[in-house]
Amino acid sequence: MKTSTTIRDLLSDTAKRAGRYLEQAPGRRVAPTTDALEALRDLPDSLPAIGQSAATIVAQLDEFGSPATTTTTGPRYFGFVTGGATPASLAANWLASAWDQNSGLHASAPVTASLEHTAMRWLLDLLQLPKDCGGCFVTGATVANFTVLAAARHRVLANVGWDVEAQGLFGAPPITVVIGSESHPSVYKALGMLGLGRDRVVRVAVDDQGRLRVDALPSIKGPTIVITQVGNVNTGASDPVGEICERVSPHGAWVHVDGAFGLWAAASPRLASQVAGIERADSWATDAHKWLNVPYDNGIGLVRDTAALKAAMAITAAYLPTQGEARNPSDFTPELSRRGRGVDVYAALLELGRDGVADLVERCCAHAQTFARLLRQHDFDVLNEVVLNQVLVSFGDDERTRRAIAAIQAEGTCWAGITHWRGRTAMRISVSNWSTTDDDVIKSVDAIASVVASL
Ligand SMILES: *Cc1c(COP(=O)(O)O)cnc(C)c1O
Repeated sequence: MKTSTTIRDLLSDTAKRAGRYLEQAPGRRVAPTTDALEALRDLPDSLPAIGQSAATIVAQLDEFGSPATTTTTGPRYFGFVTGGATPASLAANWLASAWDQNSGLHASAPVTASLEHTAMRWLLDLLQLPKDCGGCFVTGATVANFTVLAAARHRVLANVGWDVEAQGLFGAPPITVVIGSESHPSVYKALGMLGLGRDRVVRVAVDDQGRLRVDALPSIKGPTIVITQVGNVNTGASDPVGEICERVSPHGAWVHVDGAFGLWAAASPRLASQVAGIERADSWATDAHKWLNVPYDNGIGLVRDTAALKAAMAITAAYLPTQGEARNPSDFTPELSRRGRGVDVYAALLELGRDGVADLVERCCAHAQTFARLLRQHDFDVLNEVVLNQVLVSFGDDERTRRAIAAIQAEGTCWAGITHWRGRTAMRISVSNWSTTDDDVIKSVDAIASVVASL
Protein backbone atom coordinates (compact mmCIF):
# COMPACT_ATOMS: atom_id res chain seq x y z
CA MET A 1 0.00 0.00 0.00
CA LYS A 2 1.34 3.44 -0.98
CA THR A 3 0.37 6.42 1.14
CA SER A 4 2.09 9.43 -0.41
CA THR A 5 -0.94 11.78 -0.32
CA THR A 6 -2.75 12.70 2.86
CA ILE A 7 -6.24 11.29 3.33
CA ARG A 8 -7.62 14.82 3.14
CA ASP A 9 -5.94 15.46 -0.23
CA LEU A 10 -7.15 12.13 -1.53
CA LEU A 11 -10.75 12.76 -0.55
CA SER A 12 -10.64 16.35 -1.84
CA ASP A 13 -9.42 15.08 -5.19
CA THR A 14 -12.12 12.42 -5.18
CA ALA A 15 -14.77 15.02 -4.34
CA LYS A 16 -13.55 17.26 -7.20
CA ARG A 17 -13.81 14.38 -9.64
CA ALA A 18 -17.24 13.32 -8.40
CA GLY A 19 -18.44 16.93 -8.44
CA ARG A 20 -17.30 17.31 -12.04
CA TYR A 21 -19.02 14.06 -12.98
CA LEU A 22 -22.29 15.17 -11.42
CA GLU A 23 -22.11 18.68 -12.91
CA GLN A 24 -21.71 17.13 -16.33
CA ALA A 25 -24.44 14.52 -15.80
CA PRO A 26 -27.36 16.60 -17.13
CA GLY A 27 -25.52 17.12 -20.44
CA ARG A 28 -24.07 13.61 -20.79
CA ARG A 29 -25.48 10.91 -23.02
CA VAL A 30 -27.25 8.33 -20.88
CA ALA A 31 -26.03 4.98 -22.24
CA PRO A 32 -22.21 4.76 -22.42
CA THR A 33 -20.60 4.52 -25.86
CA THR A 34 -19.10 1.19 -26.95
CA ASP A 35 -15.72 2.97 -27.14
CA ALA A 36 -15.98 3.90 -23.45
CA LEU A 37 -16.88 0.32 -22.54
CA GLU A 38 -14.01 -1.06 -24.61
CA ALA A 39 -11.56 1.33 -22.93
CA LEU A 40 -12.26 -0.44 -19.61
CA ARG A 41 -9.77 -2.98 -20.93
CA ASP A 42 -7.03 -0.48 -20.08
CA LEU A 43 -7.74 -0.81 -16.35
CA PRO A 44 -5.42 -3.20 -14.46
CA ASP A 45 -6.40 -6.76 -15.25
CA SER A 46 -4.11 -8.82 -13.06
CA LEU A 47 -3.68 -8.36 -9.32
CA PRO A 48 -0.34 -6.61 -8.69
CA ALA A 49 2.09 -8.02 -6.15
CA ILE A 50 2.78 -4.51 -4.87
CA GLY A 51 -0.17 -2.22 -4.37
CA GLN A 52 -0.71 1.12 -6.13
CA SER A 53 -1.26 4.51 -4.56
CA ALA A 54 -4.83 5.46 -3.69
CA ALA A 55 -4.53 8.65 -5.77
CA THR A 56 -3.59 6.62 -8.85
CA ILE A 57 -6.46 4.20 -8.31
CA VAL A 58 -9.02 7.00 -8.01
CA ALA A 59 -7.57 8.79 -11.06
CA GLN A 60 -7.80 5.59 -13.11
CA LEU A 61 -11.33 4.87 -11.98
CA ASP A 62 -12.36 8.37 -12.97
CA GLU A 63 -10.52 8.30 -16.30
CA PHE A 64 -11.91 4.94 -17.41
CA GLY A 65 -14.86 4.22 -15.14
CA SER A 66 -16.72 7.54 -15.26
CA PRO A 67 -17.10 7.61 -19.10
CA ALA A 68 -18.34 4.00 -19.03
CA THR A 69 -21.19 4.66 -16.62
CA THR A 70 -24.84 4.78 -17.55
CA THR A 71 -25.95 8.24 -16.41
CA THR A 72 -28.58 6.84 -14.07
CA THR A 73 -28.09 9.76 -11.73
CA GLY A 74 -28.97 12.24 -14.48
CA PRO A 75 -32.36 13.69 -15.37
CA ARG A 76 -33.12 11.68 -18.54
CA TYR A 77 -32.68 8.16 -17.23
CA PHE A 78 -36.14 6.58 -17.06
CA GLY A 79 -35.28 2.93 -16.43
CA PHE A 80 -36.34 0.55 -13.66
CA VAL A 81 -38.18 3.16 -11.52
CA THR A 82 -34.90 4.11 -9.84
CA GLY A 83 -33.97 7.67 -8.95
CA GLY A 84 -30.65 9.49 -8.62
CA ALA A 85 -29.18 10.76 -5.38
CA THR A 86 -30.08 14.09 -3.79
CA PRO A 87 -27.07 16.23 -2.76
CA ALA A 88 -27.56 15.76 0.99
CA SER A 89 -28.12 12.00 0.74
CA LEU A 90 -24.95 11.54 -1.32
CA ALA A 91 -22.88 13.74 0.99
CA ALA A 92 -24.26 12.02 4.09
CA ASN A 93 -23.50 8.65 2.49
CA TRP A 94 -19.85 9.73 2.07
CA LEU A 95 -19.55 11.02 5.61
CA ALA A 96 -21.16 7.88 7.04
CA SER A 97 -18.71 5.81 4.97
CA ALA A 98 -15.87 7.79 6.53
CA TRP A 99 -17.32 7.01 9.97
CA ASP A 100 -17.45 3.32 8.95
CA GLN A 101 -19.77 2.42 11.79
CA ASN A 102 -20.89 -1.16 12.21
CA SER A 103 -24.53 -0.21 12.35
CA GLY A 104 -26.02 -3.52 13.43
CA LEU A 105 -25.43 -2.84 17.08
CA HIS A 106 -26.23 0.13 19.26
CA ALA A 107 -23.13 -0.60 21.34
CA SER A 108 -20.75 -0.17 18.38
CA ALA A 109 -22.67 2.54 16.54
CA PRO A 110 -24.90 4.63 18.78
CA VAL A 111 -24.87 7.52 16.31
CA THR A 112 -26.16 5.59 13.28
CA ALA A 113 -28.59 3.57 15.43
CA SER A 114 -30.05 6.81 16.71
CA LEU A 115 -30.18 8.53 13.29
CA GLU A 116 -31.82 5.45 11.76
CA HIS A 117 -34.38 5.40 14.54
CA THR A 118 -35.24 9.04 13.83
CA ALA A 119 -35.43 8.40 10.07
CA MET A 120 -37.77 5.47 10.69
CA ARG A 121 -40.07 7.66 12.81
CA TRP A 122 -40.15 10.31 10.06
CA LEU A 123 -40.91 7.67 7.43
CA LEU A 124 -43.87 6.25 9.35
CA ASP A 125 -45.22 9.77 9.76
CA LEU A 126 -44.67 10.70 6.11
CA LEU A 127 -46.21 7.48 4.77
CA GLN A 128 -49.12 7.76 7.22
CA LEU A 129 -48.46 4.38 8.81
CA PRO A 130 -48.96 3.41 12.47
CA LYS A 131 -46.37 5.16 14.66
CA ASP A 132 -45.41 2.07 16.63
CA CYS A 133 -44.39 -0.09 13.66
CA GLY A 134 -41.07 -1.92 13.75
CA GLY A 135 -38.78 -1.49 10.80
CA CYS A 136 -35.47 -2.12 9.13
CA PHE A 137 -33.11 -0.54 6.64
CA VAL A 138 -32.03 -3.18 4.14
CA THR A 139 -30.52 -3.25 0.65
CA GLY A 140 -33.71 -2.84 -1.37
CA ALA A 141 -37.35 -3.79 -1.74
CA THR A 142 -36.53 -7.41 -2.58
CA VAL A 143 -34.85 -7.88 0.79
CA ALA A 144 -37.47 -5.71 2.51
CA ASN A 145 -40.19 -8.00 1.12
CA PHE A 146 -38.21 -11.03 2.31
CA THR A 147 -37.61 -9.61 5.79
CA VAL A 148 -41.15 -8.55 6.60
CA LEU A 149 -42.65 -11.69 5.03
CA ALA A 150 -40.47 -13.61 7.51
CA ALA A 151 -42.33 -11.71 10.23
CA ALA A 152 -45.62 -12.69 8.56
CA ARG A 153 -44.51 -16.33 8.42
CA HIS A 154 -43.65 -16.18 12.12
CA ARG A 155 -46.97 -14.70 13.19
CA VAL A 156 -49.40 -16.79 11.14
CA LEU A 157 -47.68 -19.99 12.33
CA ALA A 158 -47.30 -18.81 15.96
CA ASN A 159 -51.06 -18.21 15.89
CA VAL A 160 -51.56 -21.96 15.37
CA GLY A 161 -48.92 -22.96 17.91
CA TRP A 162 -45.92 -23.49 15.61
CA ASP A 163 -42.51 -21.88 16.23
CA VAL A 164 -41.10 -21.64 12.71
CA GLU A 165 -37.73 -20.16 13.71
CA ALA A 166 -37.10 -23.11 16.05
CA GLN A 167 -38.79 -25.93 14.14
CA GLY A 168 -38.47 -24.86 10.52
CA LEU A 169 -41.17 -25.64 7.98
CA PHE A 170 -40.85 -29.44 7.99
CA GLY A 171 -44.13 -30.72 9.40
CA ALA A 172 -45.49 -27.20 9.92
CA PRO A 173 -49.14 -26.39 9.28
CA PRO A 174 -49.40 -25.17 5.67
CA ILE A 175 -49.53 -21.44 4.97
CA THR A 176 -51.76 -20.22 2.15
CA VAL A 177 -50.15 -17.38 0.20
CA VAL A 178 -52.63 -15.29 -1.79
CA ILE A 179 -51.13 -12.95 -4.37
CA GLY A 180 -52.28 -10.75 -7.23
CA SER A 181 -51.30 -12.23 -10.58
CA GLU A 182 -49.43 -9.00 -11.45
CA SER A 183 -47.10 -9.05 -8.43
CA HIS A 184 -43.45 -8.15 -8.85
CA PRO A 185 -41.11 -11.13 -9.53
CA SER A 186 -38.97 -10.20 -6.51
CA VAL A 187 -41.88 -11.14 -4.24
CA TYR A 188 -41.85 -14.66 -5.68
CA LYS A 189 -38.12 -14.78 -5.02
CA ALA A 190 -38.74 -13.75 -1.40
CA LEU A 191 -41.36 -16.53 -1.10
CA GLY A 192 -38.85 -19.02 -2.48
CA MET A 193 -36.17 -17.94 0.02
CA LEU A 194 -38.69 -18.25 2.86
CA GLY A 195 -39.59 -21.83 1.99
CA LEU A 196 -43.12 -20.74 1.11
CA GLY A 197 -42.62 -21.69 -2.53
CA ARG A 198 -42.68 -19.58 -5.65
CA ASP A 199 -45.34 -21.78 -7.21
CA ARG A 200 -47.58 -22.88 -4.35
CA VAL A 201 -49.44 -19.56 -4.26
CA VAL A 202 -53.08 -18.76 -4.94
CA ARG A 203 -53.02 -16.22 -7.77
CA VAL A 204 -55.85 -13.72 -7.83
CA ALA A 205 -57.17 -12.16 -11.05
CA VAL A 206 -56.41 -8.50 -11.74
CA ASP A 207 -58.13 -5.72 -13.70
CA ASP A 208 -56.83 -4.23 -16.95
CA GLN A 209 -54.32 -2.02 -15.08
CA GLY A 210 -52.97 -4.91 -12.98
CA ARG A 211 -54.91 -4.18 -9.77
CA LEU A 212 -55.92 -7.19 -7.68
CA ARG A 213 -59.68 -7.74 -7.96
CA VAL A 214 -61.31 -7.85 -4.54
CA ASP A 215 -64.24 -9.90 -5.92
CA ALA A 216 -61.77 -12.59 -7.01
CA LEU A 217 -60.23 -13.11 -3.55
CA PRO A 218 -60.64 -16.66 -2.21
CA SER A 219 -62.23 -17.26 1.17
CA ILE A 220 -59.64 -17.28 3.95
CA LYS A 221 -59.05 -20.41 6.06
CA GLY A 222 -56.08 -21.20 8.29
CA PRO A 223 -52.68 -19.46 8.31
CA THR A 224 -52.79 -17.05 5.37
CA ILE A 225 -50.62 -14.27 3.97
CA VAL A 226 -52.19 -11.95 1.38
CA ILE A 227 -49.64 -10.08 -0.73
CA THR A 228 -50.78 -6.81 -2.26
CA GLN A 229 -48.97 -4.21 -4.32
CA VAL A 230 -49.10 -0.45 -4.60
CA GLY A 231 -47.40 0.77 -7.76
CA ASN A 232 -47.51 -1.88 -10.48
CA VAL A 233 -44.10 -1.87 -12.08
CA ASN A 234 -45.63 -1.42 -15.53
CA THR A 235 -48.73 0.73 -15.07
CA GLY A 236 -48.12 2.35 -11.67
CA ALA A 237 -51.62 1.25 -10.58
CA SER A 238 -52.23 0.22 -6.96
CA ASP A 239 -54.27 -2.62 -5.45
CA PRO A 240 -57.27 -1.50 -3.33
CA VAL A 241 -55.42 -2.36 -0.11
CA GLY A 242 -58.07 -0.93 2.23
CA GLU A 243 -60.83 -3.01 0.65
CA ILE A 244 -58.62 -6.10 0.65
CA CYS A 245 -57.90 -5.65 4.37
CA GLU A 246 -61.60 -5.23 5.03
CA ARG A 247 -62.25 -8.59 3.36
CA VAL A 248 -59.41 -10.70 4.72
CA SER A 249 -58.14 -9.17 7.99
CA PRO A 250 -61.21 -10.21 10.06
CA HIS A 251 -60.35 -13.83 9.13
CA GLY A 252 -56.83 -13.54 10.55
CA ALA A 253 -54.91 -13.14 7.28
CA TRP A 254 -51.69 -11.13 7.35
CA VAL A 255 -51.78 -8.44 4.63
CA HIS A 256 -48.47 -7.37 3.12
CA VAL A 257 -47.98 -4.39 0.80
CA ASP A 258 -45.15 -4.33 -1.74
CA GLY A 259 -44.83 -0.59 -2.33
CA ALA A 260 -41.29 -0.37 -3.70
CA PHE A 261 -42.08 2.95 -5.33
CA GLY A 262 -45.88 3.29 -5.06
CA LEU A 263 -45.88 3.64 -1.27
CA TRP A 264 -44.46 7.15 -1.71
CA ALA A 265 -47.82 8.27 -3.12
CA ALA A 266 -48.91 8.32 0.54
CA ALA A 267 -46.53 11.26 1.10
CA SER A 268 -48.50 13.45 -1.33
CA PRO A 269 -51.87 14.87 -0.30
CA ARG A 270 -52.80 14.92 -4.00
CA LEU A 271 -51.91 11.27 -4.68
CA ALA A 272 -52.54 9.58 -1.33
CA SER A 273 -56.03 8.45 -2.38
CA GLN A 274 -54.39 6.00 -4.79
CA VAL A 275 -53.01 4.03 -1.88
CA ALA A 276 -56.02 4.47 0.40
CA GLY A 277 -56.20 2.02 3.28
CA ILE A 278 -52.53 0.99 3.31
CA GLU A 279 -52.41 1.81 7.02
CA ARG A 280 -54.74 -1.15 7.64
CA ALA A 281 -52.17 -3.67 6.38
CA ASP A 282 -49.70 -5.59 8.55
CA SER A 283 -46.42 -5.05 6.71
CA TRP A 284 -44.95 -2.86 4.00
CA ALA A 285 -41.83 -2.89 1.84
CA THR A 286 -40.48 0.11 -0.02
CA ASP A 287 -37.31 1.47 -1.56
CA ALA A 288 -35.41 4.60 -0.68
CA HIS A 289 -33.16 4.24 -3.75
CA LYS A 290 -36.16 4.58 -6.04
CA TRP A 291 -38.41 7.55 -5.40
CA LEU A 292 -36.65 9.07 -2.40
CA ASN A 293 -33.49 9.42 -4.52
CA VAL A 294 -30.84 8.20 -2.10
CA PRO A 295 -27.78 6.24 -3.29
CA TYR A 296 -28.01 2.44 -3.67
CA ASP A 297 -28.50 0.22 -1.82
CA ASN A 298 -31.39 1.30 0.30
CA GLY A 299 -34.74 -0.31 1.04
CA ILE A 300 -37.10 -0.22 4.01
CA GLY A 301 -39.25 -2.88 5.65
CA LEU A 302 -42.03 -1.93 8.07
CA VAL A 303 -44.13 -4.19 10.29
CA ARG A 304 -47.05 -3.39 12.58
CA ASP A 305 -46.29 -6.41 14.79
CA THR A 306 -42.77 -5.46 15.92
CA ALA A 307 -42.51 -8.58 18.08
CA ALA A 308 -43.05 -10.80 15.04
CA LEU A 309 -40.24 -9.03 13.14
CA LYS A 310 -37.92 -9.36 16.10
CA ALA A 311 -38.82 -13.04 16.55
CA ALA A 312 -37.90 -13.64 12.91
CA MET A 313 -34.66 -11.63 12.85
CA ALA A 314 -33.04 -11.24 16.30
CA ILE A 315 -30.09 -13.35 17.35
CA THR A 316 -28.47 -13.78 20.72
CA ALA A 317 -24.85 -14.59 21.45
CA ALA A 318 -22.59 -14.17 24.45
CA TYR A 319 -20.49 -11.49 22.79
CA LEU A 320 -23.50 -9.49 21.55
CA PRO A 321 -24.39 -6.97 24.22
CA THR A 322 -28.01 -6.45 25.15
CA GLN A 323 -28.71 -2.78 25.45
CA GLY A 324 -31.59 -2.61 27.87
CA GLU A 325 -33.97 -0.16 26.27
CA ALA A 326 -31.70 0.78 23.36
CA ARG A 327 -32.76 -0.56 20.00
CA ASN A 328 -30.32 -2.86 18.24
CA PRO A 329 -30.93 -2.45 14.49
CA SER A 330 -29.75 -6.03 13.87
CA ASP A 331 -32.75 -7.33 15.83
CA PHE A 332 -34.83 -6.33 12.81
CA THR A 333 -32.63 -7.14 9.80
CA PRO A 334 -31.25 -10.26 8.09
CA GLU A 335 -27.72 -8.82 8.45
CA LEU A 336 -25.67 -8.47 11.61
CA SER A 337 -22.79 -6.22 10.50
CA ARG A 338 -23.83 -3.59 7.98
CA ARG A 339 -23.40 0.04 6.99
CA GLY A 340 -25.63 2.78 8.43
CA ARG A 341 -27.71 3.21 5.30
CA GLY A 342 -30.50 4.89 7.25
CA VAL A 343 -28.24 7.95 7.56
CA ASP A 344 -28.72 8.59 3.82
CA VAL A 345 -32.50 8.45 4.32
CA TYR A 346 -32.27 10.75 7.34
CA ALA A 347 -30.36 13.31 5.26
CA ALA A 348 -32.68 13.10 2.25
CA LEU A 349 -35.79 13.57 4.41
CA LEU A 350 -34.24 16.48 6.27
CA GLU A 351 -33.13 18.10 3.00
CA LEU A 352 -36.51 17.73 1.29
CA GLY A 353 -38.82 18.22 4.24
CA ARG A 354 -42.40 17.00 4.21
CA ASP A 355 -43.42 19.38 1.41
CA GLY A 356 -40.32 18.58 -0.61
CA VAL A 357 -41.07 14.84 -0.64
CA ALA A 358 -44.67 15.52 -1.73
CA ASP A 359 -43.39 17.91 -4.39
CA LEU A 360 -40.84 15.37 -5.68
CA VAL A 361 -43.50 12.68 -6.05
CA GLU A 362 -46.04 15.04 -7.66
CA ARG A 363 -43.46 16.52 -10.03
CA CYS A 364 -42.49 13.08 -11.35
CA CYS A 365 -46.16 12.21 -11.90
CA ALA A 366 -46.72 15.50 -13.73
CA HIS A 367 -43.73 14.71 -15.98
CA ALA A 368 -45.27 11.28 -16.71
CA GLN A 369 -48.49 13.04 -17.79
CA THR A 370 -46.46 15.32 -20.07
CA PHE A 371 -44.69 12.31 -21.57
CA ALA A 372 -48.04 10.62 -22.30
CA ARG A 373 -49.51 13.78 -23.85
CA LEU A 374 -46.51 14.50 -26.09
CA LEU A 375 -46.12 10.86 -27.16
CA ARG A 376 -49.81 10.75 -28.13
CA GLN A 377 -49.32 13.95 -30.14
CA HIS A 378 -46.77 11.96 -32.16
CA ASP A 379 -49.46 9.28 -32.66
CA PHE A 380 -47.65 6.76 -30.48
CA ASP A 381 -49.81 4.35 -28.54
CA VAL A 382 -49.77 4.90 -24.75
CA LEU A 383 -50.91 1.58 -23.30
CA ASN A 384 -51.68 2.39 -19.67
CA GLU A 385 -53.77 4.83 -17.69
CA VAL A 386 -51.06 7.19 -16.47
CA VAL A 387 -51.99 7.39 -12.79
CA LEU A 388 -48.54 7.70 -11.26
CA ASN A 389 -45.01 7.97 -12.73
CA GLN A 390 -45.17 5.11 -15.26
CA VAL A 391 -45.83 5.41 -19.00
CA LEU A 392 -46.01 2.43 -21.38
CA VAL A 393 -45.62 3.27 -25.05
CA SER A 394 -45.69 1.14 -28.17
CA PHE A 395 -44.21 2.19 -31.52
CA GLY A 396 -46.22 -0.26 -33.64
CA ASP A 397 -45.89 -4.03 -33.71
CA ASP A 398 -43.64 -5.84 -31.23
CA GLU A 399 -40.69 -6.12 -33.60
CA ARG A 400 -40.80 -2.43 -34.50
CA THR A 401 -41.15 -1.47 -30.82
CA ARG A 402 -38.16 -3.63 -29.92
CA ARG A 403 -36.06 -2.02 -32.64
CA ALA A 404 -37.21 1.45 -31.58
CA ILE A 405 -36.24 0.88 -27.93
CA ALA A 406 -32.76 -0.35 -28.90
CA ALA A 407 -32.28 2.64 -31.20
CA ILE A 408 -33.52 5.11 -28.56
CA GLN A 409 -31.12 3.68 -25.99
CA ALA A 410 -28.23 3.82 -28.46
CA GLU A 411 -28.98 7.40 -29.47
CA GLY A 412 -28.24 8.42 -25.90
CA THR A 413 -30.49 11.42 -25.15
CA CYS A 414 -32.57 9.33 -22.78
CA TRP A 415 -32.89 5.75 -21.60
CA ALA A 416 -35.97 3.63 -20.94
CA GLY A 417 -36.35 -0.14 -20.83
CA ILE A 418 -38.42 -2.78 -22.55
CA THR A 419 -41.44 -4.54 -21.05
CA HIS A 420 -44.43 -6.65 -21.99
CA TRP A 421 -47.90 -5.56 -21.05
CA ARG A 422 -51.05 -7.49 -21.83
CA GLY A 423 -49.53 -9.30 -24.78
CA ARG A 424 -47.70 -6.32 -26.26
CA THR A 425 -44.10 -5.19 -26.23
CA ALA A 426 -43.70 -1.67 -24.87
CA MET A 427 -41.14 0.86 -23.75
CA ARG A 428 -41.54 1.61 -20.06
CA ILE A 429 -40.81 5.18 -19.02
CA SER A 430 -40.45 5.63 -15.24
CA VAL A 431 -40.01 9.19 -14.05
CA SER A 432 -38.33 8.93 -10.65
CA ASN A 433 -35.42 11.38 -10.62
CA TRP A 434 -35.49 14.51 -8.44
CA SER A 435 -33.64 16.56 -11.08
CA THR A 436 -35.79 15.88 -14.16
CA THR A 437 -37.24 19.08 -15.67
CA ASP A 438 -39.96 19.83 -18.26
CA ASP A 439 -37.14 20.53 -20.70
CA ASP A 440 -35.72 17.02 -20.15
CA VAL A 441 -39.12 15.52 -20.98
CA ILE A 442 -39.45 17.62 -24.15
CA LYS A 443 -35.87 16.81 -25.24
CA SER A 444 -36.50 13.12 -24.64
CA VAL A 445 -39.76 12.99 -26.60
CA ASP A 446 -38.10 14.91 -29.47
CA ALA A 447 -35.27 12.37 -29.53
CA ILE A 448 -37.69 9.43 -29.33
CA ALA A 449 -39.78 10.83 -32.20
CA SER A 450 -36.83 11.45 -34.49
CA VAL A 451 -35.26 8.04 -33.77
CA VAL A 452 -38.56 6.26 -34.47
CA ALA A 453 -39.10 8.31 -37.66
CA SER A 454 -35.67 7.24 -38.96
CA LEU A 455 -36.19 3.49 -38.39
C1 LIG B 1 -38.27 -2.39 -7.89
C2 LIG B 1 -39.33 -3.23 -7.26
C3 LIG B 1 -39.02 -4.28 -6.39
C4 LIG B 1 -37.57 -4.71 -6.14
O1 LIG B 1 -36.84 -3.69 -5.58
P1 LIG B 1 -35.23 -3.76 -5.46
O2 LIG B 1 -34.91 -2.50 -4.75
O3 LIG B 1 -34.70 -3.80 -6.85
O4 LIG B 1 -34.89 -4.97 -4.68
C5 LIG B 1 -40.06 -4.96 -5.80
N1 LIG B 1 -41.34 -4.63 -6.04
C6 LIG B 1 -41.69 -3.63 -6.87
C7 LIG B 1 -43.13 -3.30 -7.09
C8 LIG B 1 -40.69 -2.88 -7.51
O5 LIG B 1 -41.02 -1.87 -8.34
